[in-house]
Amino acid sequence: MGEVSGRHLPQEKVSDRERPKSTEIELRFWGARGSIPTPVPENLGYGGNTACLEVRLPEGESFIFDGGTGLRELGIEIASAHSASPAGAPHTLHLFLTHFHWDHVQGIPFFAPLYTAGNEVKFYSSHPAERLRNILSGQMATPYFPVQFEFLAAKMSFGHVGRAPVHFGDLRVSTFPMNHPQGASGYRIEFRDSVLIYASDLEHGKPEFDAILREAAHGADMLVYDAQFTPEEYPSRVGWGHSTWLEATRVAKDAGVKKLILFHHDPGHDDAFLSDIVQQARKHFPATQAAREGLCLRVGG
Ligand SMILES: [Zn+2]
Ligand SMILES: [Zn+2]
Repeated sequence: MGEVSGRHLPQEKVSDRERPKSTEIELRFWGARGSIPTPVPENLGYGGNTACLEVRLPEGESFIFDGGTGLRELGIEIASAHSASPAGAPHTLHLFLTHFHWDHVQGIPFFAPLYTAGNEVKFYSSHPAERLRNILSGQMATPYFPVQFEFLAAKMSFGHVGRAPVHFGDLRVSTFPMNHPQGASGYRIEFRDSVLIYASDLEHGKPEFDAILREAAHGADMLVYDAQFTPEEYPSRVGWGHSTWLEATRVAKDAGVKKLILFHHDPGHDDAFLSDIVQQARKHFPATQAAREGLCLRVGG
């Protein structure tokens, strides 16, 4: 479960990476910022791109969670790996969405694999498939984007993931509801004996949702959690749909997870501020670190 690479720039290529062991998930962050991209110099240690995670299996298959602006860089890497592959075989990609706030979908129109005929991109959410298609199409409707969703070259399909796991070989993916304006879904991602929980965006404090999260995260190897606010900031941001680093440590302890990753960093929290948050959080839950662009972690195994 150790850190594979802490470098921000330059990023290693997927094809150059050592493959995870047969029971491990490899998790890579392409965007860790919340709300809006903030590519200001003082934020670049943790990164300015918004939510995008890649889960890579030992056999090399990739599964993507959220399509914030970090998705653009991942798409470039996938496209270049694809063009370098000897057979030039078409790619099938799986993209799971927590919800449709801009910071989770803004990279989709800039996702290079969507513009290549022969690729297949499968989108999933906790909504019915037809509603998911309509939402994604609406994001690119006139006058918001010059290319309409229906004219993208890749084959696209749409699926629903609910509380019961959907199987992709040995990978099992399920959702759980979270307290967030207009709703959001957390993901429980299981591969053989390894368990990863992706819980962003959510606000703590509603007992029924707090209980669902703790049950979903019980005993997980890793919890990626919405830690946008400090406990001092939170009282003036109640109802905004986000949580705190202190609540993150409480969930990690209650659920008995092995490792906690603070995620969805506030646009106003620069590198120095976030590093200080990590130090504070470690006093409550030592196995804590903060997500940053390019961070690659082994989960389970
Ligand atoms: Zn968000
Ligand atoms: Zn949101």
